[in-house]
Amino acid sequence: MILDGKSLATQIELKLKGQVQAISQKLNGTPALATILVGDDPSSATYVRMKGNACKRVGLESIPILLPASTTTEQLLSKIKKLNETPLIRGILLQHPVPKQINERICFDAISVVKDVDGVTSLGFGLMSMGEQAYGSATPKGIITLLEHYKIPLEGKHAVVVGRSAILGKPMAAMLLNKNCTVTICHSKTQNLPHIIKQADIVVGAVGIPELIKTEWLKNGVVAIDAGYHNTPNGAVGDIQKEGLSSICSAYTPVPGGVGPMTIATLIQQTVESASCQFEIGRT
Ligand code: NAP
Repeated sequence: MILDGKSLATQIELKLKGQVQAISQKLNGTPALATILVGDDPSSATYVRMKGNACKRVGLESIPILLPASTTTEQLLSKIKKLNETPLIRGILLQHPVPKQINERICFDAISVVKDVDGVTSLGFGLMSMGEQAYGSATPKGIITLLEHYKIPLEGKHAVVVGRSAILGKPMAAMLLNKNCTVTICHSKTQNLPHIIKQADIVVGAVGIPELIKTEWLKNGVVAIDAGYHNTPNGAVGDIQKEGLSSICSAYTPVPGGVGPMTIATLIQQTVESASCQFEIGRT
């Protein structure tokens, strides 16, 4: 089974469009997502543009904020503070990664938890991990939505997450644990990765290395989720080897058209939730 993220993301966006119209009437203005891009990394610029386009498709306002690569932590914090205080801005996205001189964690944590629609704050992560209400990190939350849409059984399954970044691997592991998976997290210091992956009922590639995870490491019938995206001379590939994948897996996400569209749909969905004030923590 192909876990078609593109098609599900389109369905989610269609539903959101109607909701945004109703919310805009109630608010007497169009709610907005502010996207902050620091520097001129072309991939990051593309991701931010795609997020802005998705806002427009559902009727949200997109406010792109472009800051020079020389921006300091203090300057970025001051910008985030202003966005926190602007009522019609219901979501704030700080595109990762930021230039090295900026303390990314401090800046993520400066985002008000009620506007943290990309799920990057330490507070949001803590609440989510505890099973409390909070916006989830967009990529892993999108993956959970996709798995649930296709009714992939999670309870009691052994999930192996390869990667432990703050925005992807760690929240992915916490979300799968909350769904009663037995979770193993692997990283660059993990020994005997193929052996661990062979035990997985569900494997999540969140590494950032093209086709690091080989199909021969996978157990027959595994569910393979690939968050990676890499342009190569032979076309787009993910973190999991493409060749042979369809014959060994019971279900898998295609690259492209799997996890990527679900990340954007989740970001937009959480912005709409924020606009409709469904999330009450911290609101005055
Ligand atoms: P990251 O911050 O670079 O983290 C990569 C993780 O992989 C780290 O935890 C690292 O371990 C681990 N790792 C590196 N080499 C390894 C190896 N040989 N064996 C096992 N683990 C290894 O990357 P990220 O931001 O999480 O992103 C991961 C991938 O997801 C990238 O391809 C990125 O483009 C993609 N991504 C996609 C979306 C989307 O919307 N589709 C969104 C976000 C990210 P250490 O912690 O030990 O260094």
